[in-house]
Amino acid sequence: MNDAKDLKIGIIGGGLMGLVLAYRLTQLNATVKVFERESQPGGLSTYYNYGKFIWDKFYHVIVPTDGSLIRLIEEIGLGSKLNWTRALTGYYVNRSFYPLNSPKDYFLFPLLNIWDKMRLAYTIFYGSRIDDWKKLEKITVKDWLIKMGGKRNFNKFWAPLLRSKLGKNYTRVSGVFIWTYIKRLFKAREYPVEKDYMGYVTGGYKTVFDKLEQLLNENNSNIHLETQVKSIKPAEGGGVNIYYEESVEHFDKVVFTAPLNVLEKVTDPGLCEVVNNEQAIEYQGVVCLVLTTNKPLTPYYILNMGDDNSPFTGVIGISTLVDQVQTAGQQITFFPKYIPADHPYWSKTDSELKALFLEGVKDLYPDFDESDIESSHINRAFKVQPLQVLNYSEIIPKIHTKHPDFFVLNTSQFVNDSVNNNSVVTHVNSFVDEYKHEFQSVRKR
Ligand SMILES: Cc1cc2nc3c(=O)[nH]c(=O)nc-3n(C[C@H](O)[C@H](O)[C@H](O)COP(=O)(O)OP(=O)(O)OC[C@H]3O[C@@H](n4cnc5c(N)ncnc54)[C@H](O)[C@@H]3O)c2cc1C
Repeated sequence: MNDAKDLKIGIIGGGLMGLVLAYRLTQLNATVKVFERESQPGGLSTYYNYGKFIWDKFYHVIVPTDGSLIRLIEEIGLGSKLNWTRALTGYYVNRSFYPLNSPKDYFLFPLLNIWDKMRLAYTIFYGSRIDDWKKLEKITVKDWLIKMGGKRNFNKFWAPLLRSKLGKNYTRVSGVFIWTYIKRLFKAREYPVEKDYMGYVTGGYKTVFDKLEQLLNENNSNIHLETQVKSIKPAEGGGVNIYYEESVEHFDKVVFTAPLNVLEKVTDPGLCEVVNNEQAIEYQGVVCLVLTTNKPLTPYYILNMGDDNSPFTGVIGISTLVDQVQTAGQQITFFPKYIPADHPYWSKTDSELKALFLEGVKDLYPDFDESDIESSHINRAFKVQPLQVLNYSEIIPKIHTKHPDFFVLNTSQFVNDSVNNNSVVTHVNSFVDEYKHEFQSVRKR
C-alpha cells in the first residue's frame, strides 16, 4: 500500500495566475487551496453580468503570438471554443479617423512623410527582432524611439500612444515597455491564422475560469471565494500559516499571486521584504466606461486616441470581434483611461466619470444617440500595469523568498513582457519547471 503525503499548498489570489498555478500544481499531485477576496474568480480577467448576457468585465483578446495561453486553452479542452476574427485598428487625431491596417493605410497616413514612415517600419521590424532586452532597460522609451525613428515619428505617432497607456509616466519607462508590445504583435505567429486576426473563447474568460475550477475540484483542490487573506506568517516547525476570517490554516508551501501593495500589507517580515530600499514599484490603474448599445459605435477593434483632450485614451470595440450571439445581440464598447495612483479621476464618483466620458463619446461620434444605450457603467482597476522604469529588473521581488516555503509570483516580475494573459501562463509554466521538485508529493512505499 502507498503511504502518500500529498503536499498541501495555499495560493493567495484567484486571478488567472493563481488558478493556472493551482491547476499546474495539481498535476504534480499537490492538494491546493486558492484564496480569492472577491465573490468570483478571475481578478482583472474576470467577467461581468451585463443583464442579458455575461462577458468579460474588461476587454480581453488573444493574439496569434500568445503560444503559452493558446496551448493552455487547448490542453484544458477548450480548443474548439477558440474563435478568430480580423481586428481592425484605427487612429484618431486632429478630429479625423485613420485606418492603420495595411501598408497602404500607413502610406496614406497624412501626419508622417515617406521618410518618417520608412523609419517607423524600420523601428517595428528591428524591434520585433531584438532578443537582448537588457540593453533596452537602460534607455528611456522616448530616447530609444527617437534614436530608432526620429523626433517627428516620436512626437506624432508614438508619444500619443504612450501617453494613452502611461499618462505623464510615459517619460519614466524604459525601452522595454514598447519593445514588449512590438514583440507581442509582430513576432512569428504561433497560431495559424492570418495577420491582424485576434481571438476569444466562446463565453469569454468565464469559460476558462469555470473549466479551471472544475479541474481543480476533480483533483481534491478548490477556490475559496470571498475569502480575504489577512496575514501570512512562518509556521513553527516549517511551512506557512495563512490567516483569514477568524481562521488560521497551515500549508506546506504558500504562493502569493496578488499585487505588491497586498503583499506588503499581509506578509510577515520573516517571510520576505517587499519594498526594495531604493525604489518601490508603482502601478498604473485603469478607469473604463463600458457601454452596451443596440447599434455599433466603431468599426475598429482598437481606436487609439491621439487627442490629449479626450477623457479616455482609446476605444475598444469588442463587438467587432465577438459574435453578437455571445452578447444577446448587443454591442459592447470600452472607453478606458490608464492613470497613475495620484490621478484626480480616482476621487470622482461613477456618475461623475460617466458624465465626463459620455461627453467625450458624443464629441468623438457626433451622431451618437444616448437612447441607443442599453447599459452603461464605470469599471475601475487600481493595480494593472507595473511601471517598467529604467533598470526595472533590479527592483522586482524575488520569486523564492528568504523563507523556503514561501513564494511570490505576480505580474510585477514581468521584466521582458507586457502584462497580458500569455505572459501570465508563461510565467507560471517557467515557475513550475524551475521549482517542481519543491511541490511534488512525497510518496513513500
Ligand atoms: C483594461 C484591461 C485590459 C486588458 N486586456 C488584456 C488583453 O486584451 N489580453 C490579455 O492577455 N490581457 C489583458 N489584460 C491583462 C490581464 O487582465 C492580466 O494579465 C491578468 O488578469 C493578470 O492576472 P493575475 O492573476 O496576475 O492578477 P489579478 O487578476 O490582479 O489577480 C489577483 C487576485 O488576487 C486577489 N486578491 C487580492 N488581495 C487578496 C487577498 N488579501 N486575499 C485573497 N485574494 C486577494 C484579487 O481579488 C485578484 O483576483 C487586461 C487588463 C486590463 C485591466
